[in-house]
Amino acid sequence: MIIHRPQTAAEAVQLRYASPDTTAYLAGGTDDLRLGGAAEGKELIDINALGFDTIEDKDGKIYIGARVTLQKLVESDLIPAFIKDAAKFCSSFVKRNSATVGGNLALRRDDSYLAAALCVADAKLLALSAKGEKEEPVYDYLKGACKCLLMYIVIEKDREGWVKRFGNTSASHATLIAAAGNGIYALSVKGSGLACGNTPDLYETMEFCDDLAGSAEYKKYLAKTVFSLRR
Ligand SMILES: Cc1cc2nc3c(=O)[nH]c(=O)nc-3n(C[C@H](O)[C@H](O)[C@H](O)COP(=O)(O)OP(=O)(O)OC[C@H]3O[C@@H](n4cnc5c(N)ncnc54)[C@H](O)[C@@H]3O)c2cc1C
Repeated sequence: MIIHRPQTAAEAVQLRYASPDTTAYLAGGTDDLRLGGAAEGKELIDINALGFDTIEDKDGKIYIGARVTLQKLVESDLIPAFIKDAAKFCSSFVKRNSATVGGNLALRRDDSYLAAALCVADAKLLALSAKGEKEEPVYDYLKGACKCLLMYIVIEKDREGWVKRFGNTSASHATLIAAAGNGIYALSVKGSGLACGNTPDLYETMEFCDDLAGSAEYKKYLAKTVFSLRR
């Protein structure tokens, strides 16, 4: 296995863009270092010497480093309760203690622990691409496919909301994760992806499929009713 160890974020980005199909960033490694993970067979660009591992309060905004682990989110006094609840959807302490926020978003999974909650928090990402630094809403990033290095996730202080998960067990793939708050609604549905908007009727824009997480009818029923259940 080839592992590059860049000393700066710019160096990491340069390596990634030079070989987009054959490299992946290495953060907590919970996905990269498993058989069948997104990075299988690829050269890894270890970003663990680059910082981005703090949670800071600056001018009323919370800056979450992309290398902050899900467990560190849970333990922080600065993180809104519903985002902590989302981090706890990763039910294994061992995994929570390695898995990072940046790695979770970058995988763009349809059962992402954090995607729906961070959309509802109206989170913005600070990232470094080959063209330089950029800021974009987390929802736009999740719907795209860029190779940029996530540095920080930024949310307004004191955001409020709630998040709810349905799945066969706490360790299975989530069938559906819903979040709401600040007039924003978000749904991650296994097999359907992520939807976000300002009304609770998101299910109308989604297509549902049968899979191990549940039937299409079941998923549609959950998506249709979840926002009336609230917490
Ligand atoms: C058994 C098992 C079950 C899982 N179940 C779930 C689940 O239900 N829901 C879920 O959301 N996840 C799940 N995961 C995936 C994973 O554990 C988490 O999403 C985790 O948060 C990934 O973080 P990491 O730091 O370990 O990422 P890594 O494994 O280090 O990296 C994963 C990917 O993210 C990219 N990446 C990492 N950091 C950055 C960054 N700063 N900027 C840009 N790209 C970056 C890398 O290129 C890499 O391809 C599961 C993993 C396993 C092994």
